Amino acid sequence: MRTQRHAQAYDGRSPFPHATQQPTVHPGQAALTTAIVVAPFLVLGAGIWLAWGTGISLTDLLLAAIFYILTGFGVTVGFHRLLTHRSFTARPWLRTLLAIAGSMSFQGNLIDWVAIHRRHHAFTDRPGDPHSPYRHGAQLGGQLRGLGHAHLGWLFIDERTPASRYAPDLLADPTMVRIARAFPALCAASLLLPFTVGWAISGSLYGAMTAFLWAGLVRIALLQHVTWSVNSLCHMIGNRPHPTRQHDRSTNLWPLAVLSFGESWHNGHHSRPGCARHGHGPRRPDPSAALIRLFERLHWATDVHWHVADALQHRRAVASKRTLRTKAISAGTAVGTVDHPRGTSNGDRRRPSRGPRP
Ligand SMILES: [Zn+2]
Ligand SMILES: [Zn+2]
Repeated sequence: MRTQRHAQAYDGRSPFPHATQQPTVHPGQAALTTAIVVAPFLVLGAGIWLAWGTGISLTDLLLAAIFYILTGFGVTVGFHRLLTHRSFTARPWLRTLLAIAGSMSFQGNLIDWVAIHRRHHAFTDRPGDPHSPYRHGAQLGGQLRGLGHAHLGWLFIDERTPASRYAPDLLADPTMVRIARAFPALCAASLLLPFTVGWAISGSLYGAMTAFLWAGLVRIALLQHVTWSVNSLCHMIGNRPHPTRQHDRSTNLWPLAVLSFGESWHNGHHSRPGCARHGHGPRRPDPSAALIRLFERLHWATDVHWHVADALQHRRAVASKRTLRTKAISAGTAVGTVDHPRGTSNGDRRRPSRGPRP
């Protein structure tokens, strides 16, 4: 309630209320988060030193690419477009595999990930948004500080996002709850698998170690920072060809399109959150949408939401229907039921849920 009241009073320029007074996470948790964020870079330095002169083996590069693609699509197609926005329905085995793949990206358990991202859509760039770069105001200093907060500073703030409120559908799904509980084990597997495969292919401990460095730690660090860049850069830099809700400053940032598997068409996504495609228009490559299309052709994905009106069109359509209805009622004419488009006020065609709408 408090957040909603502040959100209504927000002027679009000021720092968010309580922006500097949030309790930080427990020191133990902060140390763990720091280790997860910093360790891959330390090991990257060690990896470069180890590889200097001997080069990186082709096996390491291929393994890194394979694990990046698998876990990356687990986040973009699985966590984001399937579980958060329900842009399509997946066969149960595919839904499970995507949830497992996303969990191996070291970005938190899937239920927390979905809850936080839904809250981001509910309060985009307003008080209540867990990682807005406008948290400390829209002035230059505030924006620079906000950029750090949106990228990874928010991980160190103890701002709870109750899954019971934001992801009740996933809490009611025993398979998803089991995968969420297995998050630490899946993180371990995400590191052990490259190590084991590297050992099997090279036949040496050195080969196992270099695979662990490049296809494990470096791959995890790269994907984390690409994902976090969508939270930070894609709300500050780039263009905004699509209409969004008030205060929403999401942008399209083309240099990240391929590495983020289409997620950096973020303005397109915020305009049509329920749409399976984020890159709307020509020359906007969206590998995640291409993969969903492939799943659809294989009949592994159904009810794919490809044609979702953008937020502004949707609002205008709803408003004009309301106006027509009001006129009809005040004129005393009989009216039938108004054909409200299915889904949310921001153009999302998701099925109704008990939780807030992302
Ligand atoms: Zn966003
Ligand atoms: Zn989203």
